[in-house]
Amino acid sequence: MEPDAQGTRIKLAGHEPPRFVADVMLGRLTRWLRALGYDTLYDITWDDDRLAQIARAEKRILLTRDVQLTRRRGIAYILIQDDKVLNQLRQVILTLNLNDARAFTRCIECNTELEEVSSEDAALLVPPYVLSTQTRFRRCPNCGRVYWRGTHWTRMREVLAELETEDGRE
Ligand SMILES: [Zn+2]
Repeated sequence: MEPDAQGTRIKLAGHEPPRFVADVMLGRLTRWLRALGYDTLYDITWDDDRLAQIARAEKRILLTRDVQLTRRRGIAYILIQDDKVLNQLRQVILTLNLNDARAFTRCIECNTELEEVSSEDAALLVPPYVLSTQTRFRRCPNCGRVYWRGTHWTRMREVLAELETEDGRE
């Protein structure tokens, strides 16, 4: 299958929701996709062969800035066009019709699915002012990081709203 005009070849992947593996240039985009709840692998030690192998074996969509990588056989990919992370995010969201239904279900640091934490347990893990303003907490069972819908959540909603508004103008 030849790449289309947008530099994508995604029909091969076929996972719903889509899963990703990102190249070394796309660490910030990786964190955004994880914040949205999308399974995204990223490791700065992985070379091109490894990235291609993972994309192929696990039927993940390869996110890359490197046109050479997209020429590998049997890989679904999106060739990321822009250096700015919000433009990169916008490209992926528009290409695959992503949404925020799964936001904050996955650890931004290590990609592990989060577990619910009761307020009682959260009391041991977060500062008092957070406990007094938030009711839902989640924790990464792998790295222990605790998440709640605080400033990062608000910021993410603002950014997503901006992206949607931009779409409307086109
Ligand atoms: Zn984690």
